Amino acid sequence: MDNKYVLGIDIGGTKIRLGIVDSNGDVKWGTSKSNYNFDSVSEWINYFTNNILTQIPDEYTTSYTKIGIGTAGWIDEESNLIIHSPNTNWQNVDLKSLLEKEINIPISIINDCSAAVIGEHTYGAITDCTNALGIFIGTGIGGGIILNNNLYQGSQGFAGEIGHTIIVEDGNLCECGRKGCLEAYCGGKAIGKIAKNIASIDNNSVFNLLAAKTNKQITAETVSMAYYENNEEAVDIIKEISNKLAISITNFFNIFDPDAVVIGGGVVDGIPEIVNYIDNYFKDLSITENKHNKIRKGKLNENMVLVGASIVARNVI
Ligand SMILES: [Zn+2]
Repeated sequence: MDNKYVLGIDIGGTKIRLGIVDSNGDVKWGTSKSNYNFDSVSEWINYFTNNILTQIPDEYTTSYTKIGIGTAGWIDEESNLIIHSPNTNWQNVDLKSLLEKEINIPISIINDCSAAVIGEHTYGAITDCTNALGIFIGTGIGGGIILNNNLYQGSQGFAGEIGHTIIVEDGNLCECGRKGCLEAYCGGKAIGKIAKNIASIDNNSVFNLLAAKTNKQITAETVSMAYYENNEEAVDIIKEISNKLAISITNFFNIFDPDAVVIGGGVVDGIPEIVNYIDNYFKDLSITENKHNKIRKGKLNENMVLVGASIVARNVI
């Protein structure tokens, strides 16, 4: 069978996104389904084969020859082992072998932010760049580095973790267990927390009203809704987090001098103006001579991880 199609899969904390990707990086079909924390990996595999793979329409079920998976966490390239994945609480899981046994199709596994930056470099916003950084703002903040047109992973595989660079000494507690990380101020969870704090002080805040109206908890999505209602507090939150991101990105530019930085992820897809705010402040702060078109919004949006993972599957297996 030819390699016309690859199945790309993005395993996120709350959602699994999958798509049939052709050799030009076009997603011919795609969908999202909820992800859950199961007690065991075998239960998750059961859910995956019976509830996720079954979503693929008949015309594509036998059309793909490889599967590329992108997931959060630390993945050992050599062994394909998921050493630790925060989304699923997996530790030392050989998901590749376990899944290949079930579905008998070759699989590759890569960190989701590495996949996303590969996707944007191959088909998205940074195709013209030799050196670039991708920053992805979802619940947390991840990153990936392209160096000399290849993914750069560093000595221990941690390269690009801009979300865990410390911006405030002894600051907010981060998911990584340390204090003051960029993610603890500008990730989606942190944005929701800022709004919750405002809501706890002021019962009549826009965030309380929107939460009551939508019957949902206050999250980054609530801030996004308030932002588009031109609520001043929401606009201030977004400007403030954009400025912090711009400072971190400027620091990165001054060390690394990349061609561009691409910014994506759920928070940015929800409020794309964040990229403009970051770009404006970056232009104030940066010592770079040419400041034009350095800060870019990702083009692959919700498909960036699965497209990147499909490219890796095509190339390595
Ligand atoms: Zn951290």
